[in-house]
Amino acid sequence: MDYLPVCLKLDGEPVLLVGGGEIATRKARLLHRAGAVLTVVAPEVSAELTDLVGDSARVQRTPWSPEKPLDQFRAVIAATNDTAVNAEVSQVCRAANLPVNVVDSPALCSFIIPAIVDRNPLLVGISSSGASPVMARRIRSTLETLYPPGYGAAARFYGEQRDRVSSEIAEEGDRRQFWEAIVDSPITDLLARQEVAEASRRFDRALEDPGALIHGAVYLIGAGPGDPDLMTFKALRLLQRADVVLYDRLIGDGILELARRDADRIYVGKQRSEHAMPQDQINQALVDYARAGKRVARLKGGDPFIFGRGGEEIEGLMKAGIDFEVVPGITAASGAACYGGIPLTHRDHAQSVRFITGHTRNYELNLPWAQFLNPAETLVFYMGLAGLEIICRELMAAGRAGDTPMAVIEKATRPDQRVITGTLSTMHRIVEETQPAAPTLLIIGSVVTLHESLGWFNGTSSDDD
Ligand code: SAH
Repeated sequence: MDYLPVCLKLDGEPVLLVGGGEIATRKARLLHRAGAVLTVVAPEVSAELTDLVGDSARVQRTPWSPEKPLDQFRAVIAATNDTAVNAEVSQVCRAANLPVNVVDSPALCSFIIPAIVDRNPLLVGISSSGASPVMARRIRSTLETLYPPGYGAAARFYGEQRDRVSSEIAEEGDRRQFWEAIVDSPITDLLARQEVAEASRRFDRALEDPGALIHGAVYLIGAGPGDPDLMTFKALRLLQRADVVLYDRLIGDGILELARRDADRIYVGKQRSEHAMPQDQINQALVDYARAGKRVARLKGGDPFIFGRGGEEIEGLMKAGIDFEVVPGITAASGAACYGGIPLTHRDHAQSVRFITGHTRNYELNLPWAQFLNPAETLVFYMGLAGLEIICRELMAAGRAGDTPMAVIEKATRPDQRVITGTLSTMHRIVEETQPAAPTLLIIGSVVTLHESLGWFNGTSSDDD
């Protein structure tokens, strides 16, 4: 270890900042958050920095001089753009045994400042020992996505309960177990969401009966159309917490790998006409696992509330009194449109967009076709491949022009995505030739013509008519 990370208490402590420009201002923001009483020495001092210092007596608009007395300061930071000044500050401070940091010059520092995830009172510092600040910042961004801002409030609440818990649970091992169970429980989520009353009630109950903590929950997670990068931070966070993961065919490769390694993975199928687990059994499984105290991630392709039967699944959970969360996801239409270079609306082409299910029952499709005739509206059919011929025929019969542009997007957002273009009257034949595989989405309307000019990005291939 090249450095020992420590947390310095600077609240109310005098700190000298040499430099008055942008870098100095950045450091001053950090020191200000830690409660330091700043003195700034620099010929010119930025307006924001002057504000941060607060007291104009502590803004000294003069060049740094090694003769300045330093003994009242707890630490010194040099952030000037003059390397000679920075080196001199470092030398004088070291001679006086005063901790000194010179921005971007690890060799001149007696302490360095890590990248910080601030969830006060929870703090994470990430240091590369000066080797690669960019890598440290990357790790910080990852941690920031995993621990939402509300975690600070949870830590504060737990801090306030420590004495009480210590007096009620005398044995140290029991106490540690209690805290471990609490931190992992939904109480932390409640606190992070500022639902303090409910959290307090559950905390009190857990203190009386730690068994009450064995509390399952279901996360209905929209996992997006395939590319794992399209999951939300929240989706990732909850997935990584799950003990059990229920997933189906629409879940893209790479998404399951993001679950905990020890989590049980259960395939619940849903191939067209080959249901690995019927919907009512899925609903029941969610309830059963949660009742057994498990945290269950139900991964849904796209968005759970768009042709996802998410409503039915949570109805069962509500009836059973089980905690649940629903996490929105990027729906297939958004993914296909963006990765396929087909804007769903466009000033010159479409003022509205309609999401329609093309799911057929017994090769029939009963839809209000007469409502789909507005040439300035984009139509998106989910589950429309099997019924493609019916859809095109009915739209033309109702009066939509046969030369209306149309795209079939196969495996949108996945590495093997394909965009197949044609028109209402030709698509049936093109699909027979190109044989796209599920999942596929149909986009109908003049916006499809934009694919030719916009479809080059995101690495999609195009099999035009
Ligand atoms: N809840 C999902 C839709 C479920 S219905 C969502 O919001 O996206 C299943 C249909 O979604 C499929 O038949 C297909 O039409 C569409 N779909 C889902 N993922 C897709 C993908 N990656 N590419 C193309 N279509 C997709």
